[in-house]
Amino acid sequence: MCEICGGTHVHFVQSGYVARWGPCPVCGPMPKEQWDREVEQLQQMIAALQQGDLAG
Ligand SMILES: [Zn+2]
Repeated sequence: MCEICGGTHVHFVQSGYVARWGPCPVCGPMPKEQWDREVEQLQQMIAALQQGDLAG
């Protein structure tokens, strides 16, 4: 397992109050298929949160 990204291909850098992220310098950018899955999961999570807000 990569120590920098932990296998996620995303490299987070906390600098002061600002968090930046980018492709892991060791593993390289996330493969497109994996990226698409991540985006889909994120959209589903956002949709679920919005529905929860409306219901609550
Ligand atoms: Zn990595």
